[in-house]
This record gives sequence, structure tokens and C-alpha cells, in this order.
Amino acid sequence: MLEHIHTHRNLIGFDENGIPVAIQKASVHDPEKIDAEYRAVEEGQNPEAAHSHEQKGCTQGACAGEGSGQAHTGKDNGASQEEDDDAFIRDYMNAVTAYRKTFPSKQEQIDKTPDPAIREMLIRSEQLGIDTTFDRFDKQQPQCNFGLAGICCKICNMGPCRITQKGKKGVCGADADLIVARNLLRAAAAGAAQHGMHARELMLELMWAAEGKLDAPLLGEQKILATAKNFGIATDGREVKDVAYDLAKALLDDLSSPDPSHVYKTAEVCAPPDRVKLWKDLDLMPISAYHEVFEAYHKTAVGTDSDWRSIMEHFLRCGLAFCFTGVAGASIATDSLFGVGDRVTSKVNIGALKKGYVNIAVHGHLPLLVKEIVKCGQTEEMINLAKAKGAKGIRFYGICCSGLSAMYRYDGVIPLSNAVSAELVLMTGALDLWVADVQDVFPAIMDVAKCYRTTVVTTSSSARLPGAERMEFDRHHSNIGEAKELARKIVLRGIESFEDRKGIPVYIPPYEITAEVGFSAEYIGRRFGGFGPIAEALKDGRILGIVNMVGCNNPKVPYERCIADVAKVLIQNNVLVLTNGCASYPLMKLGYCAKDASQLAGEKLRGFLEPDLPPVWHVGECIDNTRSSGIMAGIAGALGQKLPDMPYAFTSPEWSNEKGIDAALAFRLLGITSYHCVEAQIFGSKNVIEFLKQGTEETLGSHMVVNADPVKLGEQIVADMKEKRKKLGWD
Ligand code: SF4
Repeated sequence: MLEHIHTHRNLIGFDENGIPVAIQKASVHDPEKIDAEYRAVEEGQNPEAAHSHEQKGCTQGACAGEGSGQAHTGKDNGASQEEDDDAFIRDYMNAVTAYRKTFPSKQEQIDKTPDPAIREMLIRSEQLGIDTTFDRFDKQQPQCNFGLAGICCKICNMGPCRITQKGKKGVCGADADLIVARNLLRAAAAGAAQHGMHARELMLELMWAAEGKLDAPLLGEQKILATAKNFGIATDGREVKDVAYDLAKALLDDLSSPDPSHVYKTAEVCAPPDRVKLWKDLDLMPISAYHEVFEAYHKTAVGTDSDWRSIMEHFLRCGLAFCFTGVAGASIATDSLFGVGDRVTSKVNIGALKKGYVNIAVHGHLPLLVKEIVKCGQTEEMINLAKAKGAKGIRFYGICCSGLSAMYRYDGVIPLSNAVSAELVLMTGALDLWVADVQDVFPAIMDVAKCYRTTVVTTSSSARLPGAERMEFDRHHSNIGEAKELARKIVLRGIESFEDRKGIPVYIPPYEITAEVGFSAEYIGRRFGGFGPIAEALKDGRILGIVNMVGCNNPKVPYERCIADVAKVLIQNNVLVLTNGCASYPLMKLGYCAKDASQLAGEKLRGFLEPDLPPVWHVGECIDNTRSSGIMAGIAGALGQKLPDMPYAFTSPEWSNEKGIDAALAFRLLGITSYHCVEAQIFGSKNVIEFLKQGTEETLGSHMVVNADPVKLGEQIVADMKEKRKKLGWD
């Protein structure tokens, strides 16, 4: 019946999980047909075209409930805008309530999480009465419908305001579209600031290392020279450190220039030319990352930009700033300082913790001190000191991205878990020292650390934890030259803590595995001689498509289950998966990154991977999204194709933080559709839903897909890839 409705917009409804979806695409604009349809409706000649809340197409999920309809076009049935808005508000509130009911309880988490080590530790937390993320999530239920819908505004102190049937506008007059769009832009700006600060740290360190202010060798000489050439920086006859200095300055300019005429070089250098042209045509090129974040907060202030479209346009601009300064810029600086690394085999999971050693975990994102700490802890002097205190030696473990960037660069740093299960790692009682820097270090870790007398040390003035000891670079980095001394102090504190903690009970679930890690464009070059052989396998169908699977975790879905289920569907359908960041932990722990994991893949993909390539290629930490997009662009280039036409996808099934909004957006800006099992806080705005789920297809060649069912999401990715292959004439 819905196909009879003519609409200039996609009709928004909600699926069985309350996820907002476009249930009918905008009609082709044939003015004569439109007039005829309107006349027919007005004259009562075509009652089917009139909107009814009981129509068949509107009866999915919660919105089939009493008095609830789903698709509301307003004019088609002659209903007033007021009635239309009333109906939409009622519908999305019902949809949010339905969506909330899909959130798992802690018991469901225990039943459904796929890693037995996590399951054991969750049960142990029950026995010990220690709260985890999942307990606190339970206690937060029911979460606020207005917050989930994105229509709560507290930008100014006339509020907070929220959109209801009674009050369809905030005190200042902001409507639902504006409030949802502003909230989303502020979240994207926050994500750009977070990765941007990570990037700033590395860019400054690259500059200081080049100047000699920081005692750190430039291990990525090839990366420096190749990237500098692309930036138009002279390299011939110059010392690497001088080239590195100029490269760091160019990256820092893109981070912070206030000059409106500044050319944002990183995007021009790193992105395919057709994308750069598109962004310029749409006027999306950032001035600098700092500027776009400033402007985001400026635009969204009360009484400033009142046009939701303009707000969403800036949302895209912030996505580019995130992508090219926060991610690509950070990655260039990291690889320049610490080298690209190589493929290695790493141990993974909590079972790799060993009792009787001085056990030190590094948690966060910043690699400089991690490198120095590991180096210092591996010296004979420190090992002997540890042994003198009764330890068998010193071992290092990684949580979140610190673990991922270290595992393939420094021998012996074992990745244990992503941020959401950090408390469970502490609950083993095996850790003597926990070194935390920035981002995804939850305040809750302190309560568990206290229970087990684990010493927590913070190393960044940006991120402190009450109760932790501070051994940090100061705000002005005046002690950046003392990295080695700071690292020594931290390792000594670990040895001291080992001695103090003797007798603390330790329980380590016996699950550990090995994973192949450290994939990159450079590794592909060494292994295959370039992108050609992978491009060929993609074209002839041995590889159906390529997915970049990333993202943090979210207790709104069964922990690590969505990631595992989506991956299973993909690789069984011959899709090659690239991964980094928190989502890569379950993929490593469940064996998808193991040398012999090709047996888990579909027959065609298996043929390509054998004898020693896994179906999931681990490229590193969250900023290594750049490695994935570089590999995708390299393969597209080898085939002479544009990114939006390729059978590619981005997926962050369980995303939760602000950086996650930008990461998916960055791939959509490249023309690669993003797929998720968790919905964004956009239920309250028909226009923002349409913009994200349909509208950008026209401009960017990509859009956002959400399905709370991971198997269906995986199948959707596969179906969309097959469609792209058909268009390319590959099948
Ligand atoms: Fe309310 Fe407008 Fe202030 Fe937001 S900006 S809190 S909608 S008055």
C-alpha cells in the first residue's frame, strides 16, 4: 500500500527493534503525476493513497501498537503539519521504548558473550559482588527516552528542553531537527577533538624528536621520506630529521591553522583526487581541525545557526577533520616515530597473564611512554631487581589501543582486552601496576584496582583518576625530555607494588590464543609485490568484498557477540575483513586472526588465504583505520575504480563513543557505506534520520545502515556487495 503514497522525502518508520528506517524511498518527481495524485486524494478517488495509521506497511514492531502509525507524510492525506508532528512524536517514542527492550541484562550478557574468559570473569564478578559496566548498565534502566531520541537540549540555561507533543519547540524555538542535529554535531566535534589531541601529541613528539628536544630515534625513515614527497616537502640531499621537522610542521598546520585561506594539505595528499574534488565542490574541506571544532561549538550555540541542514553540513566537515588530522595525521606521525612494524604472531587474552611476575598493564592510546616503559622493563637491571624481590621477571600487557599499537612493535606486549572489560582484567588480581594515559580509561577501574591493591599510575595531565599516582608529562610538556627517567620511575613502582601485593589472591581463566597482527600496505607490498594480486582475487570473486570492522563496545548489545556474528557471516561469504581497535579483540580471541583460521572462511576465500593468511587481517590501533582505507584505496586504484563503486563496507557493530560517530562518518565521506547494530541518538528527527540513512547516498555515494540483528546486518553487507559487483560486471 505504501507504494501508492507520493512523497518528496523518504518515509521514516521503525523496524521490529525500533530502529528508524526509511520505509519508502522518495518518489520520482513527475509534476503531472504528483498533481494527479494529490487531486485524486483530495477528491476521495484514491483512498489507498491516503495515510492510515493501520496500514499494512506501518505495522512493524512497536509502532503497530494502539493508536500508533509509522509513516507520516503530512500533505498526502491532507492532515495538518501539527497532526503529522504529533503522530511522529508518538511513533518515535514508541520506537525508542521498543528499542530499549532489546538491551540485554547482565545475565543475558553472561549467556551470550562469546569469549569463555569473559563469561568466567562476569560470573566471578557476581560471586564477588563487584560491579561491572554491565551491572551499572542494568541499574541505569530504563534509560531516558528523550536522551535516546536525541531531543534533549541543555545548550543554554533556559533549558533543559525536550520535544513533546505539548512542547514541539524549545524555549528558544529550536525544533526537533535542530536539537538532534546540534547534539550530533557536538558529539562529532568532541570525537574530532579526542583523536585530534592524540594526533597533536604525536605530531609534537615527531617535531621534538627531529629537533633533538626529545631523545627518540626516527624509526620510520621510509614513511617520512615517502609522505614528505607527497606533501611537496623537499627531500633530496636533506637529512631525514630536517624532512621530519617540515612534515611535523605541515601536519601541525592542518591541526591548528586559524587562517581561512589555509590549504588543508593532509586530505589533498591522502585522499583519492575524485573525493577531494567532491569535498571541494560541496565546500566541505576543513580549514583546520581546531577551527572546525571551534566552529562546531560556535554554530551550535543558542541563537546561532538555526538551520539543521547547515549543522549537518558542518557535521561532514568535522568528519573530514577527524579523518585527516585525528586519524591519518596521527598515523603518519606514529609510523614516522616508531616505524610501521611488521606482521608478527602475538599471544592474546586474559589467560596469557602469568602469576609470579611483575605484571604491568598499559592502557590508553599514547605510544611514547609505553615504548620507554617496555624498553626499560626489559633491561637486565630491572629484571634482576624484580627477581631480587621474588618475581620470575617482568611482563607487559596491553588494554585497548595501547596494547594494539605495542604488540607488533615491541616483542612481549600482550593484548588482553578492550576498554569495556578492563575491570574484568583487574579482577584477576594478577596486575601489579596499571599505567593509564588518555581515552577509554573508565573511572570505574579505580574501584576494582583498590580491591586488589593494584597500583594505578596516570601519565597524562589530560586524564587523571582520583586515587591514582601521577607520573606524567606536564601540561606544557616541559619535561618531555625526561621520558626515559619517567619510564624508569614507573617500572620501579611496578616492582615495588609486586612486593607490596604478595598474598593477594589471583584467578586467571585459562584461555589464551595466538593471533597474526601487524598487517599494512607495506606488508602487502612485501608479501604480494603490491595490491595487484588482491585486486585480481577481488575481481575474479575469490574475495567477494572487503570490510573494515572496528569500533568500541556497548552494553546495549551482547558484549562482543555482534562483532563475532557479523564477522562469521562475512568470512563464510568470502569477505576479507580488516580490523583494528577495540572490535579486533574478540576477533583475535575467537581465533579469526590465527594463522590456520582460513578454514573458517568460505571456500573461495580459503583458496586465496591458504596456507598462512587469516580471514581477518589485524592492522593495529584505532588510528590505523588509515591503514585499512589506504589498502582499500590501493586496491581500487589497481583496478581503476572509484571507492563508492567497490564492494567495500565499514562496520562498527557495537560502537559507543563519540569517536565512533566520526570513524563511521569518515568512511562514508570516502564513499563507503557504514553498518551498525547500535542506533545513534537520532530517533526524534525525521530529517536527520533521512539525511544519514538515505540523503548522503546522493552526495557521497554512501549511507548508514543499522540493524540490531548482527546476522541480518552481515547478510545485508553481503547482499549490498553482490549488488556492487553486479554493477561492476564482475559476476
Ligand atoms: Fe532550550 Fe534552546 Fe536553550 Fe536548547 S538552546 S536548552 S532548546 S532554550
